[in-house]
Amino acid sequence: MKSEEKGGNDKKPILKGYTLKELKDYFSSIDEKRFRGEQIFNWLYSHLIDSYEEMQNVPKTLRERLSELTGPLNTLKLVTTKSSPQTGTKKYLFETLDGHKIESVIIPEIKRTTLCISTQVGCPLDCKFCATGLMGYKKNLSAGEIFDQYKFTVKDLEENSIKNIVYMGMGEPLLNYDETLKSLEIFANDLTKGAKLKRITVSTAGIAPKIVELADSGMRVKLALSLHSCFEDIRSKLMPINEKYSLKENLHAIRHYTKQTRTRITFEYIMISGINDREEDFIELVKLCKSMPCKINVIPFNSLAHIKPSGFSAELRPSPFERVEAFVQALRDQNIIVTVRYTQGEDIAAACGQLAIVENEDEKINS
Ligand code: SF4
Repeated sequence: MKSEEKGGNDKKPILKGYTLKELKDYFSSIDEKRFRGEQIFNWLYSHLIDSYEEMQNVPKTLRERLSELTGPLNTLKLVTTKSSPQTGTKKYLFETLDGHKIESVIIPEIKRTTLCISTQVGCPLDCKFCATGLMGYKKNLSAGEIFDQYKFTVKDLEENSIKNIVYMGMGEPLLNYDETLKSLEIFANDLTKGAKLKRITVSTAGIAPKIVELADSGMRVKLALSLHSCFEDIRSKLMPINEKYSLKENLHAIRHYTKQTRTRITFEYIMISGINDREEDFIELVKLCKSMPCKINVIPFNSLAHIKPSGFSAELRPSPFERVEAFVQALRDQNIIVTVRYTQGEDIAAACGQLAIVENEDEKINS
């Protein structure tokens, strides 16, 4: 008997999150045929099954053996959902097997529905405009936990309705690089249902060495940088990680990324009154945008009132609507591609920068 067969429940491997190669290796390690890895991959990531009994082309004896040897097939439990009556935005609260809470958001738009997924429980980066940062960091999510956010939401919605996935929920994906990459590898596999790599965007606060690593990984995914200011000192004030990896270093990494992947970078730009919506901000932003293939995603600043911020965070105010409109128009007049992400889900604290677990906010629907 193999050691894992003797082990307790907590030692059992959880297959959700294994890449195709890892599944094949796993079946070799338990003296089963490697092609079983491909079958299980298909059941996990295409058929999105919940139990081994559903794996019809897997012999009953092997299904029973797998139920004995491995941990649960689902890495998350859906706790509750909340929908915005104004925009249709839907927020999902999940619980991990070790009892942490995370959130994902579905953003419906006319021609496409976007899923915003989390990669960490909380976030260590403490960006001053972000509720997740203010709640602190608990742990990295596994590739299985990242994938299961897709699984649960896609099953909840109409077939094939999720067109885009953005790694822009709770956490900094590039600080959870290995599991983020594994989840991308799963999405990239043709056997995986629905999701297509070219429709996935990884959003980072700017972890320059990991941007280079991702560029060289062969994973041709879209990349977004949370820019928010072209001035190092202001950016450091808004995003303390800028002290460690400066904007200059990140832009160097991003130039490498756009060359390697031949993709256009997206600069996320949350507009904050008096901080980054001034004439000098506009001039620097235009200079930057003319220097590389890019587009700008302008996001009106969303309130943090639901988490009662203090210090600099409490001072931040949204740029007035007219200022945002004028700023966007002036960028467009410079032939810069600009999208504006007007607030989606602010009424349910699901808008950009608002995700944070407020204990006892929601009642469980699945207990
Ligand atoms: S904006 Fe992103 S990187 Fe910054 S604190 Fe929030 S979740 Fe973390």
